[in-house]
Amino acid sequence: MVAELNILTEWIPEQMQPGTVFVLENAGEVGKGEDPYWAVLACPECGTLGLITRRQMAGITPVICGSDKCSAHFFIRDEDVQACKPN
Ligand SMILES: [Zn+2]
Repeated sequence: MVAELNILTEWIPEQMQPGTVFVLENAGEVGKGEDPYWAVLACPECGTLGLITRRQMAGITPVICGSDKCSAHFFIRDEDVQACKPN
């Protein structure tokens, strides 16, 4: 698992390597009111793309990879990835 996030300011699909974050242009406008979708994250373990919410981006709730083949479970701490448990 990569330990640091790489924040993209432009959507460049080829650059969505594991651990890359792209903040949505409409961040905060989609999803649940109190915890809206905020960014697209490429799983730091396997690179699967998934939407993360504002609370996940803020490190309040953990991120769990959406892939069946990956058990990544981690918090985002600023721009670092902190695994909840070793794989
Ligand atoms: Zn994963």
